[in-house]
Amino acid sequence: MKIDLRSDTVTKPTEGMLQAMMSAKVGDDVYKEDPTVNMLEARLAAMFGKPKALFFPTGTMANQAAIKLHTNPGDQVICDKDAHIYHYEGGGVSFNSGVSCKLLAGNNGMFTADQVVAAINPPDFYHSPLTRLVAVENTANRGGGTCWDINTLKSIQTVCETHNLGLHLDGARIWNALVAKNEAPEDYGQVFNTISVCLSKGLGCPVGSVLIGDGPVMENAMRIRKILGGGMRQVGYLAAAGIYALDNHITRLAEDHSKAKELAAVLETLSFVKKVVPVETNIVIFELQQPETEDRFFNYCLEKGIRFSSMGSGKMRLVTHLDYTSTMHEYVLQVFTNMAL
Ligand SMILES: *Cc1c(COP(=O)(O)O)cnc(C)c1O
Repeated sequence: MKIDLRSDTVTKPTEGMLQAMMSAKVGDDVYKEDPTVNMLEARLAAMFGKPKALFFPTGTMANQAAIKLHTNPGDQVICDKDAHIYHYEGGGVSFNSGVSCKLLAGNNGMFTADQVVAAINPPDFYHSPLTRLVAVENTANRGGGTCWDINTLKSIQTVCETHNLGLHLDGARIWNALVAKNEAPEDYGQVFNTISVCLSKGLGCPVGSVLIGDGPVMENAMRIRKILGGGMRQVGYLAAAGIYALDNHITRLAEDHSKAKELAAVLETLSFVKKVVPVETNIVIFELQQPETEDRFFNYCLEKGIRFSSMGSGKMRLVTHLDYTSTMHEYVLQVFTNMAL
């Protein structure tokens, strides 16, 4: 058995999704004439209670476009020290937008409104970069798939309004947070100016992210997407997968979450595991007692057909997803339970 728990991006389209893709009506989306893309964008905009939504090939491009839309070169973005926009987007904030990041020492990827207030540079102090944007990640990936408290987000929104800052949500895994906390997309639409959502993580699409936002900030979104090389033609085949996923793959995320919790529970009983970050969604981050045993642990699992990713210094990450079946899950629980390092 081959079991891939490196990421929720490793899924392949289901039969039903492929059928939906094959029968999609398409047109040239650069002319905005692809009916399926238009349908997906309208649907997501309505879900989050926003006027605009735009399809992107990747979550990275959607985030990068959002940062560009909110800022001017020289400005500063406030985000957590573990943020995807800082760690995993190739330094794009400086490359694409010419901005810097002010990193907050959050708790599992989440920070407070007070931390934001303390990080804002006074706008009249021209020696410092102008603070323009706050970026939040929900769920927080490196934080261990953690979910923000909506009230914390509302307090951060108040701070942003007071200080005239934009507020962006990197919602690559917002679907996991919505299911875990039983919240509605509009709750987030009311807090953020822009929201990027991923279709190719938990929702199981082969490709695709969508940037959703307010009218004024999204006005130039088509232009920025074009500049970044993200204007695509008959892309309705991909948007059809997104529509199918919204219909069929959201509520089932609860299964991924319960499997992740069961994995964490077993890991916690192992003597060579030092710590497991409390699991809220589909990500399990754990640390070994002795970082130098990492290779042995890794190879032991590989030999049993189980892959996952290392985060360095003895930290490991498992991510459950649509293609991780119950049969695979029972097997992994067995392997972990019986493991002797
Ligand atoms: C995966 C991910 C993205 C987008 O990544 P792409 O691979 O470019 O689609 C953005 N933010 C977070 C938190 C992610 O986990």
